Amino acid sequence: MGSESEIERILWTEGEIASRVAELATEISCAFTGLTPPPLVVVGVATGAFLFLADIVRRITLPVSVDFVRVESYGSGTESSGVPKISSDLKIDVRGKHVLVVEDIVDTGHTLSCLISHLNAKGAISVSVCTFLDKPARRKVHFELIGEGKFYRGFECPDSFVVGYGMDYNELYRNLPYVGVLKPEINSSPMASFPSATSSVRHLH
Ligand code: 5GP
Ligand code: MG
Ligand code: MG
Repeated sequence: MGSESEIERILWTEGEIASRVAELATEISCAFTGLTPPPLVVVGVATGAFLFLADIVRRITLPVSVDFVRVESYGSGTESSGVPKISSDLKIDVRGKHVLVVEDIVDTGHTLSCLISHLNAKGAISVSVCTFLDKPARRKVHFELIGEGKFYRGFECPDSFVVGYGMDYNELYRNLPYVGVLKPEINSSPMASFPSATSSVRHLH
């Protein structure tokens, strides 16, 4: 389990990802130039966003602070149940700060909606979101960015369960340098069914 031979097709190669990440970092660097007060607080959603965050912050040409949150979704499927909880909170105080949330993928929007409310309650001046992938077709909840916050996305993702570049299936495949779709025999095993699965804890992102 967890090897390249289990990938049915590649959606974005390592090179395609690198060019898109560079474009996003330029866009973000321009948008936040002259930010008051600095620094921009970059909040990664663990674990899925770790590679994307590492790549993008190295290309952002502004002062940034980096922190992580962990958001856990409970339910009976690989689809968000709608009750995500912050299971590991920020260390940095975001009161009076501009925040950029970095996500691996926005699917139903439940996770982001929960996290944005959380950051709002903590007094962030603005909350922007930069997600590597976006599945707008599967959106169930609308989320409002805070203040002058903007939404950035790397790629629009088809309605398939994807792995690689930080994203897992059962905590495997995160280390693949590209994004791909698993072979059906892997993805249709009892624990991998999408959108339904067997675990009561859906996933740690
Ligand atoms: P949402 O709350 O928007 O439904 O869920 C977002 C989270 O679900 C993502 O941050 C990610 O952790 C997980 N997720 C959604 N779609 C996929 C997918 O296709 N592959 C993987 N590995 N995780 C996904
Ligand atoms: Mg995530
Ligand atoms: Mg996951």
